[in-house]
This record gives sequence, C-alpha cells and structure tokens, in this order.
Amino acid sequence: MTIKEILIKYCRELENISDTPRLDVEMLLKKALGDVDSMYIRMYLDKALTDEQEKYFLEMIKERLNERPIAYIIGNREFMGLDFFVKEGVLIPRPDTETLVEEIINICNNRTGLNILDIGTGSGAITISLAKYLDKSHVVSADISDIALEIASKNAVSNNVDERIDFIKSDVFSNVPKEKKFDLIVSNPPYIRKADIDGLDRQVKDFEPYNALEGGEDGLDFYRKITKESKDFLKSKGILAYEVGHDQAYDVSEIMKENGFEDIYTKCDLQGFERVVIG
Ligand code: GLN
Repeated sequence: MTIKEILIKYCRELENISDTPRLDVEMLLKKALGDVDSMYIRMYLDKALTDEQEKYFLEMIKERLNERPIAYIIGNREFMGLDFFVKEGVLIPRPDTETLVEEIINICNNRTGLNILDIGTGSGAITISLAKYLDKSHVVSADISDIALEIASKNAVSNNVDERIDFIKSDVFSNVPKEKKFDLIVSNPPYIRKADIDGLDRQVKDFEPYNALEGGEDGLDFYRKITKESKDFLKSKGILAYEVGHDQAYDVSEIMKENGFEDIYTKCDLQGFERVVIG
C-alpha cells in the first residue's frame, strides 16, 4: 500500500476509537518508515511501503485498533518540549500536568539551586522538566514502583539531567531522608475516586497503571497524607504544589489550610478546570 492509501483506510477505521485518527496514523507511519518526519509523509504520499515496513505498520495499527494508547505503541510522549520514553507501568504524561510544571517554573524562575522533592514520579515528566528548566536545581524523585523508577532514570539520562536527580524507592515519604529540607514539594498523586475507576475510558482503565490512578474513596487520600507529612520535609516558607482532579481544588485547598499552609491559590488547565493547587 502507499502512504496515501494507508492514511485514508486507517483514519476511517480509527474514527470510533481515537479522537485524533489522522495524527495517530501519521505517528505510526512515521515509526514504521524508520522515524521519518511529518514532512516526509506529505512529500511522498504515493510512495509504497516495503513489505517489512507494511508488516510493522499493520502490527502497530492492530494494537491501536485494540485501543492501546498510541504513546505506549510508539514508546514515546512529548512533555514540556522534551521526549519521554513510556511503556505500560507508568502513566502517560498529560498536557494538564504541563500547567503544574509551567506554574512552578513561573514562581521559581529567578531562584537557582532549589531543592525539590517529587512524590510519585512515574515516567519522570515533572521531575525531569523541573531539573531541566530550573537552573542548578536538585530533585529527589520518589516512587513506590520499580518500573517507574527504571523508566524515569532512563528518561533522566536521555534528557541529560541524571546528575541532578536522586531516585529513591519510597511509599510517599517512607524513605525520603529527613535531614535535608526542601524548598518545594510537588506531586501529581493518584486522585481518581475508587467508584469512578470503572467509568474511565477503556484506554486509561485497561492500559494505564491502577496504582497511579486510584486515590481512595473520595480520591483525596494522598493529598491528606502528603500535606500532613510534608511539614516535616519542607523549609519554612517552602512550597507545596499539586495537580488535582477537575473538581478537587476546593477540597485540597481546605486540606492545606487545615495543615497551616498559607497563600493558597489555584491555576486552571487549558480546559478551564482548576487543575493546580499551590500553597
Ligand atoms: N489525569 C489522569 C486521568 O484523568 C489521572 C492522573 C492521576 O490520578 N494523577 O486519567
């Protein structure tokens, strides 16, 4: 088949599965053709794929038709302009989380050498972009999952910031050293209510890690735990910064108030949901 024939046939087939069928087919084609760029696809629409390329493409599109997320199929997702390797076992970085990282960069931009703690690092999207964009910062990056730590370390190396990040296996604060206090603690913890997990999109529910999504009966378990314990790890005037579920900003702000945090404010994501809470 030619590039054009593939685009037409598989965009149609993906219509009911993906919100972005054309983009998905293009991404799989680029991969099958040996990591070519989008321009190549446009310039060579009438070029036929070799048997090997076509076989590779068909294998990948079959997985996509089975609703496996595109980022896991190609093993990559861009976040804050950086490339992240991803596979099952870590949550795929979301644009919503860029709102959190951008706000932290805004408020910390004129400070260098910050000590940061990231709780629940996953693929390393938050940790690595903060290490990259905040001058001379140092990040302690904690996760309970071995796969997450392995993937995040790999991403730290490929993004050239591994020397400024310490990865530790830790259940929230359990293994975080107490002697050093942090300027900033950041977390995008699991925050979906237990009862809402079933209603998630199949692509999330069947492929992304449950333990990165479920946050207890009301989805707030991790905010309560992290907020309470964070006081032992933060410098006075230290900052606590969260990503929260689309309807959790008020509750999380209240939890922070109850624990003595001040100057609490929220930031909206691109869809207008209060997605970030900082105090
Ligand atoms: N934003 C994710 C979702 O809606 C949830 C991420 C999380 O629980 N931290 O699927």
